[in-house]
Amino acid sequence: MTQLILQPIGFSPKGFRKPTRWDYWLFHLHQRTAEYYRLELGKTFQVASPRGYTGSLTWAEIQARYPITIWNGGNIVRDAVMETQLKGQSYCRQPYIYAFAYFHPPMTPNPQEFDWQGIHYSIQHEGNPVGMGGAVGCENWGCTQSGPVPGGPGTNIGGDVMLWLACGYSASKLISMGWPASAWPLKDPHIYDKIIMANAHEIGHSLGLGHPDQPDGSPMKMWMWEDPATPYWDLHFTDDEKATLLATGLLS
Ligand SMILES: [Zn+2]
Repeated sequence: MTQLILQPIGFSPKGFRKPTRWDYWLFHLHQRTAEYYRLELGKTFQVASPRGYTGSLTWAEIQARYPITIWNGGNIVRDAVMETQLKGQSYCRQPYIYAFAYFHPPMTPNPQEFDWQGIHYSIQHEGNPVGMGGAVGCENWGCTQSGPVPGGPGTNIGGDVMLWLACGYSASKLISMGWPASAWPLKDPHIYDKIIMANAHEIGHSLGLGHPDQPDGSPMKMWMWEDPATPYWDLHFTDDEKATLLATGLLS
């Protein structure tokens, strides 16, 4: 059996620096998430070395092309993914899933959530055009199937201040860089652990899991992240979710 491989990808606009040692930190984030899967399931996925890309447009040029609205978060991501494809990045290899980190300058609060062309974008986090957690089917990038698992989207997108927190930046450093102090992740002392759970959630989508109807103590519960009382240290996949994950045959 071939084991699933998660490919981290880091993208930034022209003239804008990614976080210092972003590749180390993205690898670390996904390895921590892979370890969570191993603890939950006894099996897990591999993490590939992160690949980095720089766009051909500056952030100002991107914003001029696509004023930041609920619709244009999708346009901005699509263009970025397309650029990496032109530079040779595949989104169709099997059995890979892709975690796309879009590093951009600080943004003002823009809390919205929407569906567009069958893609769900959650942009409820402040300063965020594309969501920490958005699952996108690889067929949107020209692949013949959504991902390595039937019904599993195959790509997830991250784009907000949580990516910088995942890269070891402190809240005070990020506020000094221009991120809004009101952004809830900057006020959450447990944010790194919650980011790992958010990542486990997105990878769960890539492997065919949906959202539970009711809170069930699983990382697939999507509305937990802003609740300070959420026991993020004690989240577990349900038995049904574990069965679905193991039935993919891609974890070992
Ligand atoms: Zn979700």
